[in-house]
Amino acid sequence: MNDELGISQVMPPRITVDLSAYAQNLDAIRTRVAPAEVMAVLKSDGYGHGLLPIAHAALDAGITALGALDIDTSLRLRDSGIGEEVLIFAWLLAPDDDLTAAVAAGIDLGVSSLDELNRIAAAASARSDGRRARVHLKIDTGLHRNGVSPEHWPAVVERAVLVRESVDLVGIWTHIAEASDEEDTDAISRFHAAVAVAQAVGAEPQLRHLAASAASYFRADSRLDLVRVGAFGYGISPGGGITPGELGLTPVMTLTATVYASDDGTARLAIGSGDGISSAAAGRVSVAVNGRRFPVADVGLDWIGLADPNGELQRGDEAVLFGPGTRGEATLQEWADATGTIGEEIVTRLSADIPRSYPKG
Ligand SMILES: *Cc1c(COP(=O)(O)O)cnc(C)c1O
Repeated sequence: MNDELGISQVMPPRITVDLSAYAQNLDAIRTRVAPAEVMAVLKSDGYGHGLLPIAHAALDAGITALGALDIDTSLRLRDSGIGEEVLIFAWLLAPDDDLTAAVAAGIDLGVSSLDELNRIAAAASARSDGRRARVHLKIDTGLHRNGVSPEHWPAVVERAVLVRESVDLVGIWTHIAEASDEEDTDAISRFHAAVAVAQAVGAEPQLRHLAASAASYFRADSRLDLVRVGAFGYGISPGGGITPGELGLTPVMTLTATVYASDDGTARLAIGSGDGISSAAAGRVSVAVNGRRFPVADVGLDWIGLADPNGELQRGDEAVLFGPGTRGEATLQEWADATGTIGEEIVTRLSADIPRSYPKG
C-alpha cells in the first residue's frame, strides 16, 4: 500500500467552479426577490469558491452590491478594478482597521456601536476632500451577536444625524436568525420600529436590509430594499431536506481527487483532512468514480480510503466527492446531511491551497 506523504502534491485535489451556474442562480434569486436589490455575499473567499472570480462573475450578471465582510477584503475588491458604482459592504470592523482608507475607497461600513460610529466620523472629518463615510447602522433585533441594542439606538441615530457632515447614513440593517417564523416576525417588527425611531430624528436611510438567503426566498416581508445572499448564490440549500434543485438553483462547486493507490480492497484518494475534509465523512458518505459510488471508509491527513472490495479502482482514476450530481456523485447537501453539518461549513473549510479552476461554459 502506497501512502507516502506528499502524494497530494503529485496528484492534487481540484475544485471546479461553474461560474455560469453562479450567474444563473443569481438571476433566479433576483427574479424571486424583485424589486428588492441583491447583494452578493462573498465572505470567506467567496464561500471557498474564490473571491475575485466570484465577485466579477456577480458583476457580469448585473449585481451592483457586494458583501465583503471586512475592510481588507473590500479594499482588495476595489483594487481589482471594481469602481464606486458598485456598493461594497464591510460589516466586521476591527480596532486596527484603516478606516481612512475605507472612506477614501468609498466602502459602505456596517456600524454596530457608538464607538465605531465616532471612529468613522473622525476618520472622515480628518480628510481634506470633504468626502463623507457611507454608514449602515445595525440594530440588534434579537440575535445578540452584535448591533446597537434598542436602549442605545436613539442615542446612536441622533449622533449619526449630528455628524452628518462627515457621515452619510445610507442604510439601516440587522441580521435575523431564520430559525423560526415567529422569531423572524418579531425581529422584522423590531427592525421597523428602529427605522421609525431613526426617521423621527431626521435620518433618511435609503437601504433597509435584514434578509440572508433563506429569508429572502421564503419571506416577502423580509426583503425590504436589499437582500444579502451568500449560500443560495452558490447553489447551497438551507438543509432540512430542501434540495437546491427544488429552489431552482444549481450547485456551483465540484470537488474531485485522484486514486493514487489500490490494494487489498481499499483504494486511496489523494485528499484528506489536511485539505479540509472532515473525518466525519468516514462511514457516512460515498464518492463517485465513473458514475459508481464507493463508500469512504477512512479519512487520513492526506488520503481518503475507499472501500473497493472487488478491486475495481486503479491509480489515476478520478473521483468526484461532490458536485451538481450529474456524474452520479453526491451533492454538497448529501455530504452536509450525512456528516451533520451545513454546506457552507464544508466549502469554507476546504484548503485555500486546493487549485480552483473556472472552465468557460
Ligand atoms: C453570511 C452573511 C449573509 C449571507 O448569508 P447566507 O445564508 O449565506 O445567504 C448575509 N448577511 C450577513 C451579515 C452575513 O454574515
